[in-house]
Amino acid sequence: MKRREFIINSALAVGGTALLAGCGKRDVITKEGQICKRTFHNLEIPLLGFGCMRLPMKNETTIDMQELDRMVYYCMEHGANYFDTAYMYVNSQSEIAMGKTLKRYKREDFILADKSPIYKMKTQSDVRKIFEEQLKKCQVEYFDFYMCHNINKNTFDTYKKVNMYDEILKLKQEGKIKYLGFSFHGTPDILREVVKEHKWDFCQLQINYLDWDVVKAHEQYEIVQNEKIPVTVMEPLRGGGLVNLSDKALQKLKSAYPDTTPAEFGLRWAASRQNVITVLSGMSNLQQVKENIATFMNYKDMTEEEEKVADEIAKIIQSQGEINCTACKYCMEVCPRSINIPAIFALYNQYKVTSNKMLFKIYYESLAESEQAHNCIKCNLCNKNCPQNLEIPQLLAKVDEEYKKVADLQRK
Ligand code: SF4
Ligand code: SF4
Repeated sequence: MKRREFIINSALAVGGTALLAGCGKRDVITKEGQICKRTFHNLEIPLLGFGCMRLPMKNETTIDMQELDRMVYYCMEHGANYFDTAYMYVNSQSEIAMGKTLKRYKREDFILADKSPIYKMKTQSDVRKIFEEQLKKCQVEYFDFYMCHNINKNTFDTYKKVNMYDEILKLKQEGKIKYLGFSFHGTPDILREVVKEHKWDFCQLQINYLDWDVVKAHEQYEIVQNEKIPVTVMEPLRGGGLVNLSDKALQKLKSAYPDTTPAEFGLRWAASRQNVITVLSGMSNLQQVKENIATFMNYKDMTEEEEKVADEIAKIIQSQGEINCTACKYCMEVCPRSINIPAIFALYNQYKVTSNKMLFKIYYESLAESEQAHNCIKCNLCNKNCPQNLEIPQLLAKVDEEYKKVADLQRK
């Protein structure tokens, strides 16, 4: 049956603010059997983007290609054709896996975003060399979206030193990049410098209802909005932290909206920002893909009431004293002691939410002894890689201290 196509001009519903470059109005495009899309220049971008940082794994080191193929097929069938990978994702295996799975489709049928690893750049020629390597790994001739990855205070200095923008701009002029942007994990001051330094087609920000205040995401968002730079959203669910809510936070959500899941709520919150073109979700299995696609098949912006509930949930989470780790694992790539930093922080956060001392002790001790916090030699190498700007050695010391207290108590 031929697909019926119609456009809902949701700009009317949200007050008609014209903010998106190449879009004019904030339109949401719906097609039967497809997820909602927004326009960006001459492209239709699905509101849900596939983040390729948490791909399905067979074991610690091997990507489950069969499951990935199924996930990508389901996405493509439903119009979710935006894929966001990066050089360092999944131990530098993500680009290769995405290249293999996307090879099954015509190039013009999918939108591929990739990122330049600033941390690997020593000279300007490295920018092009690594870019060509990325094209090869992904088995494509061009990237639709290409970003300077993880700009913050430290990486911005390197970015300037190796003239990264100039080299990437040349690649764009050669037709190897359609849209040029950056992903950002720094402070608002640095962001102001970044947006003034060059002309950008888009940028990628960490936006979710918790970080809106915690990492001043709202300030970052306003800076790029004023410059009319559209946003792709990363970590809308804060690495799963907004999916696994504490009982108290979940109760707040369910008492207001019994049929809403935390994931749906978080994704819709991020997509409801006026300047957003797509919300990336790092999906790890077909079930997550199906649930997320269902959220964006019948997408509606959040109401004021829902926004209020999100604020209240954020306050509950903030009061729990969790560590702001998104489990990206960048820190582990440089840790000389192979400490399992994200797992330690996840266990600690779970403990803060549940207050269950016994489970904290059991789970903590189930980590290999060599992976535990007390092995930290405080070399600070990890801090430079952490996009959340966490003071990792201090936090590890805090978890270690807490663990020792709990272990002592249980011995008595
Ligand atoms: S400070 Fe500790 S956790 Fe960080 S890299 Fe060094 S040893 Fe690893
Ligand atoms: S501590 Fe930082 S770098 Fe390490 S996993 Fe968490 S967010 Fe990522």
